[in-house]
Amino acid sequence: MTGSGPGLLRADALSFRYQPGTPLLEGWSARFDAGEVVAVTGPSGRGKSTLLYLLGLMLRPVSGEVLLDGEAMHARPDRERAARRAATFGFVFQDAALDSSRTVLDNVLETTLYRGDDRRESARRAHALLERFGVALRAEARPGQVSGGQAQRIALCRALLGDPRILLADEPTGNLDPASADVVLEALHEQAHRGAAVVVVTHDPALVARCDRELVL
Ligand code: ADP
Repeated sequence: MTGSGPGLLRADALSFRYQPGTPLLEGWSARFDAGEVVAVTGPSGRGKSTLLYLLGLMLRPVSGEVLLDGEAMHARPDRERAARRAATFGFVFQDAALDSSRTVLDNVLETTLYRGDDRRESARRAHALLERFGVALRAEARPGQVSGGQAQRIALCRALLGDPRILLADEPTGNLDPASADVVLEALHEQAHRGAAVVVVTHDPALVARCDRELVL
């Protein structure tokens, strides 16, 4: 579903390298529209995770632009980029990246609290999500007490809680059995049907086959 407007999220001639490091992206362009789930694939070390950080405004490209609703983000101050990130994006990091000092529930609530959403309503929705993904019993646990697959599903709950318009997920099914992976994939498609652009980094051919498009890095 590639429209002709500005696109929800666009990468325009992105180039990036870590300092020091070899170039990872050189003049890379793509667009991500509402309603689609796009798989990003490619060999390890090619820069897939880095691309998600660039698209998610956590890194700035060396040159080129990330455009959100047609607006160039590069020159925006850090504070504005952080606010746009919290308002627009949900992230599922590769290693789940849960804060080990807080309970699972507080981890899931993190972004909504940062945004100033109502805590009771957010907690009610967080419990419903944890239930849906089979990790509700772990709500009061600390991240160190849950398995890798549980952490991944908890990270997905955190990303979905804010009902993001753009969902960026890094290997979200990497530690999951096929049935759990199916539930995750369904959730990604559901978020797209709700009007989000969804970008998934994955090595899993079965997942790629069920995405709307594949971009190979
Ligand atoms: P992929 O997700 O495709 O495996 P990554 O984006 O994780 O690739 O990493 C791309 C390359 O950048 C790798 O060689 C990795 O070692 C390097 N890299 C990743 N993060 C950093 C960093 N913070 N500083 C320097 N090099 C990094």
